[in-house]
Amino acid sequence: MIICYTKAMITGIDSETQSLAGSSVSLRHANLRLVFNEIYKRRSATTLELAQTLNLSIPTVTSCLNRFIGNDFVHISKDAVYTGGRKAKVYDFNALGRIAIGVKLLKESAEIVATDLYGNVLEESVFDRPFEDDEAYYAAFGRWVNSFISALPYESDVILGVCIALQGLVSKDGESIYYSAALKSSGIRRMTFQRHIDARVHVMHDLDAAAFFEALTRPDMENAFYLILNKNFGGVTIFNHSVREALNTSSGTIEHMCLDPEGKECYCGGKGCVETFCSVDSLEEKIEPLSLTEFFSAVHSGDEESMSIWMEYLGYLALTINNLRMIMNIDILIGGLLLQFMNERDLEILEDMVNRTYPFKGIGPAVIKVSSHADDAIKLGAAMSLIEKVLMDA
Ligand SMILES: [Zn+2]
Repeated sequence: MIICYTKAMITGIDSETQSLAGSSVSLRHANLRLVFNEIYKRRSATTLELAQTLNLSIPTVTSCLNRFIGNDFVHISKDAVYTGGRKAKVYDFNALGRIAIGVKLLKESAEIVATDLYGNVLEESVFDRPFEDDEAYYAAFGRWVNSFISALPYESDVILGVCIALQGLVSKDGESIYYSAALKSSGIRRMTFQRHIDARVHVMHDLDAAAFFEALTRPDMENAFYLILNKNFGGVTIFNHSVREALNTSSGTIEHMCLDPEGKECYCGGKGCVETFCSVDSLEEKIEPLSLTEFFSAVHSGDEESMSIWMEYLGYLALTINNLRMIMNIDILIGGLLLQFMNERDLEILEDMVNRTYPFKGIGPAVIKVSSHADDAIKLGAAMSLIEKVLMDA
């Protein structure tokens, strides 16, 4: 089960609440948000519990709860609690009050997931067709998404929308994908997908979606460089529990940091980028004709040639990590497809390489953290970005 911590819960909204206090409409809205977030977090509560925790009056909390019952976010529980001999109603947050749909669109295929409001997976499916930037693909993709949604046992009005996470940088207004060398396309627009999909479509950079998921589900991790070891390498900065967005570069493009100016050409047009040393694509080129499963089986049984390729890969990953630590010495979180092949020993070797080559020993050793959902973080993050909007707008 995923525990979702919304940005409002993490940062608190006291100051915002105070600044809104001048307007009764805004104050009512602020109270709605407080009650919504509290019952979401607790999952179940009485009016008195909510009033005491939030320092609100019983009539205010009751009014908020009635509104949430009206739009099906809250149900009255069959259970009741007895306080001082009196029976008190218990209110349950309705996890199925809205359904979010997240899609991970890759150049080889696409994956879709439906989640409840806590990010729990209800249904999943795979679209086994390589991406092509043409109408035939978009029409087939749209039919797949529509039929996935219509097969769900929920009414269309509870579907929050579809968030498509893809390998491309998305404009600030969310309307266009202005850079997507991985998909070998430029100028894809949100409307291109929307024309073929009945539910409201949103698009998101896939790495932002993964980082968004990690930031929401790991409240202990305030700041981190999140390195995603996928077919294409991804790197995102999580700062103050959220995905940091620079002006036009999404949340960073660590994958195109240069490790060797004379190195191999990268799809971005540069040379010797992290992508060319640390992506799964670059590793697969070196291990051909072995599959990843065969390669890691050889590594873990001590095959010298495979070990040498793997140590070189880990060495470049350690170099990347230490370059990042020179900018900010914050947590390092590793995720992505390669994790499913790596064992504890691989992570120990990486940690050791990082700490051995880092010059400022007084700062203390780096601890490499590992994503708990690895490959699923992208589609879950896409779905949960829709849930976050509900919680923030409540
Ligand atoms: Zn590059």
